[in-house]
Amino acid sequence: MALMTQYDLHTHSTASDGSLTPTQLVERASQQGVTHLALTDHDGTEGIEEAKRIANKAGIALIPGVEISVSWYGATVHIVGLNLDIDNPELQQGLAQLREYRQTRAEAIAQKLEKAGYPGALEGASLYASKTMLGRVHFARFLVEKGHAKDMKDVFKRFLVRNKPGYVSGEWATLKQAVEWIVAAGGQAVVAHPARYKMTATKRRKLLREFKSLGGVAIEVASGQQHPEEVRTMAKLAEEFDLLASCGSDFHSPDNSWTELGKMTTLPPFVTPIWNQWA
Ligand code: AMP
Ligand code: MN
Ligand code: MN
Ligand code: MN
Repeated sequence: MALMTQYDLHTHSTASDGSLTPTQLVERASQQGVTHLALTDHDGTEGIEEAKRIANKAGIALIPGVEISVSWYGATVHIVGLNLDIDNPELQQGLAQLREYRQTRAEAIAQKLEKAGYPGALEGASLYASKTMLGRVHFARFLVEKGHAKDMKDVFKRFLVRNKPGYVSGEWATLKQAVEWIVAAGGQAVVAHPARYKMTATKRRKLLREFKSLGGVAIEVASGQQHPEEVRTMAKLAEEFDLLASCGSDFHSPDNSWTELGKMTTLPPFVTPIWNQWA
């Protein structure tokens, strides 16, 4: 009997800004029919060990991953690393720098919110994560909790983004560093959610060209519940730049503002899935 496979190669746990623990995430993925799950928390791999243990029990494959924050010509871009040796010192030193910056940035975000009339944000957001893992989602939870915004979507419209209270422009890794750390750890570098960046098609091509020349191998052709037409456009880009195709839900939480585990739009048949070259 042919076994069904379902790959979800982009997910988050409480080790970054997800709301499920690695254990809960893996159990939910298994219930949703995911057979190959990558845990790709922002700028850290703390959740991997626990996820691996539970995946073994649940009988699904756990791919050790990460989602690295990158600053590229004024834009923030996310690079996913898959199949990482998480004990690699070069990778871990790089990620540690980014988490240190997260702490600095969190203080700056809180100061800006305070000036705009929203005090106590650092303490409030810290209830949801350690200081070096603090992200905008944790500030968002604080702002919703305090009644300053009605939900996640509302927060990211009215706060924490350019020209709004609490905005701090990121100073993350370079594209070169992110790819190098992933390659040093024996992994594959993937451009996360390429359709989501607010950039021109020309700039997106420049990103993919540079990414490929640095040693990147894939893009997320399908990320979350995208319109099939947009997925096709990304698939064509993968073809044009001779990049492999990855797919992931970018799941953060069971509340319905996020795509369910394993439920992203399917890959068009003409791309080469990144897992084709996996053992
Ligand atoms: P950070 O890396 O701390 O700047 O936070 C980035 C994270 O914020 C993303 O990974 C998402 O989880 C979340 N995020 C960013 N933009 C939005 C949005 N428009 N709606 C909901 N969540 C968002
Ligand atoms: Mn996130
Ligand atoms: Mn992302
Ligand atoms: Mn993500």
